[in-house]
Amino acid sequence: MAKTALLTGITGQDGSYLCELLLRKRYTVYGLVLACDTVGAERLSCRDKINLIEGDLKDQTSIDCAVRTSEPDEIFNLAAPSFVASSFRNPLETADVVAFGALRVLESAKKGAPDARVFQASSAEIFGRARSSPQNEKTPLNPTSPYGIAKAFAFMSSQLFREHHAMFVSNGIFYNHESPRRPPDFVTRKISLGVARIAFGLQKTIELGDLNAKRDWGYAPEYVDAAWRILQFEKPEDFIIATGELHSVKELLEEACEVAGIGNPDHVAEIKKELIRPTNSTRLRGDAHKAKRILGWEPKVKFKDLVRIMVEADLKLAAEESRQKKI
Ligand code: NAP
Repeated sequence: MAKTALLTGITGQDGSYLCELLLRKRYTVYGLVLACDTVGAERLSCRDKINLIEGDLKDQTSIDCAVRTSEPDEIFNLAAPSFVASSFRNPLETADVVAFGALRVLESAKKGAPDARVFQASSAEIFGRARSSPQNEKTPLNPTSPYGIAKAFAFMSSQLFREHHAMFVSNGIFYNHESPRRPPDFVTRKISLGVARIAFGLQKTIELGDLNAKRDWGYAPEYVDAAWRILQFEKPEDFIIATGELHSVKELLEEACEVAGIGNPDHVAEIKKELIRPTNSTRLRGDAHKAKRILGWEPKVKFKDLVRIMVEADLKLAAEESRQKKI
């Protein structure tokens, strides 16, 4: 029988890809959004095929209502202010949405849909300054940002509901994952859009922080596939979802310049001290062997493929921007 899913964060990068995946699998999809009238087809291409419910992770009543209305078989909690750096400026807001928001979703599920399977989008930031690398599902938590601390709270609350209330709640511990749908303030997209705009003479440099910072970067559509697989497994468990490869911002910039066909990457980067994170989680590299063994999940899009996908998409946008300017 066709299943019903409720997604929070449906307008975000992951929410939009997951929505498309679930529709392909013939799910009925409900999405919790902050304001329905701001969600047009340009923001969410599948908007006309799904049901939107207004709500806010800071408002328990709205989440209760979304759960009651949608009667979900599966709940994917993806909503979050997901920019780690801004969590230092807004720690209370971050905790309210990321930590208490996840708890509110669990509470609503317990009351309104106790048999629903719940996916919690966790983050490698729960490991923060990790004591070992690569990290696996048994690595101790050691978050070093307000975002990481809030995600750690959500992660442990999910485990509590699984153990104490016998609910089907699973964490997907996501490492960074990117796509052309990433907002331009994230470094990957800042670079892909920046090199594309430079190629069309629309800007000269890209403002960047620490070029030596390294990340484990994957491709977002593959990560939402992992989220879906996690909820199809026979038992609720936690899984690391990562590529297991580390690449630096510098490598990313070099590769992006190459794809865009522009010159020396050293001339393109404009280093800004204020863009360097107060604490950088440079050793975050995930070991996703459990996901491979149990779920049959493994990333197929490698680093260079990811950069190419992003730069090629942004070259199209920059070409259009340049054309508009000439009219
Ligand atoms: P994203 O693109 O930033 O999307 C975040 C979504 O959350 C948006 O739909 C946003 O709505 C919504 N949202 C924000 N505050 C909300 C609130 N108070 N109530 C309801 N909705 C709210 O994030 P993403 O990249 O898709 O990430 C999805 C999840 O995975 C997040 O929980 C993130 O923390 C986690 N994660 C992501 C990564 C990654 O590399 N992408 C890595 C680890 C973990 P508006 O669009 O209306 O603002």
